[in-house]
Amino acid sequence: MSVSRLAELIRERQPCVVLTGAGVSTESGIPDFRSPTGLWAQFDPFEYGSIEAFRRDPRKVWSFYKPRVAMLTEAEPNPAHTALAELEQLGFAEAVVTQNIDLLHERAGSREVVEVHGSIRTSSCSGCGSRYELTRVLELLAAADAPACPSCGEILKPDVIFFGELLPPAAIDRAYELARRARLLLVVGSALEVYPVAGLPLETLGTGGELAIVNRGPTGFDAKASLRIDGSAGEVLPQLVDVLRPRRA
Ligand SMILES: [Zn+2]
Repeated sequence: MSVSRLAELIRERQPCVVLTGAGVSTESGIPDFRSPTGLWAQFDPFEYGSIEAFRRDPRKVWSFYKPRVAMLTEAEPNPAHTALAELEQLGFAEAVVTQNIDLLHERAGSREVVEVHGSIRTSSCSGCGSRYELTRVLELLAAADAPACPSCGEILKPDVIFFGELLPPAAIDRAYELARRARLLLVVGSALEVYPVAGLPLETLGTGGELAIVNRGPTGFDAKASLRIDGSAGEVLPQLVDVLRPRRA
């Protein structure tokens, strides 16, 4: 019932913008680092995930990131990513705003993806300003524990947002613009706890839009949502697309 109600909401309230968090990628085997059993519960984020730690000792931070980058590049999009890409192709989703850095929306076929926490697509050199694609960084990592800039020798930094770093202004501006214009914001796999992404639902609600949430467990916006489905993204979203897909005669 709730999936067909969500499909109705999406039909009625266009444009619809999707906001995704870690819950979309857990079924691809990527753990939610902020969960109580996640990585940041085992590793002190200020030792391994902060920009200060990186500036102090980039090799130490890479000793933590190297296996993580390998895991992210080996992960495959799951049915939630595929369903969201199809939602866009069917004309029911204008864009996906994501907190995830894993590139899985793009690899599943989504075209309008706004990555508010950056991504592993590139790494940059603070010494000379060069930027390198992931494939090149993986080559460098195959030969060393930390990738050194081929031009100047500085250790490269992945273009993901570390704790203590500003979010990419262009992506944040675009996310807020999309949220303000959305008549429906569909939140998937995020508990909406991390700002400024957690501010996006307020933008949508503030301009007369509505909120729908698909998430395992409660979120900070459950009371303000028109509809809430407690379930896994990989199960709910394919059912949703099944309802919205045009029937063949
Ligand atoms: Zn350099």
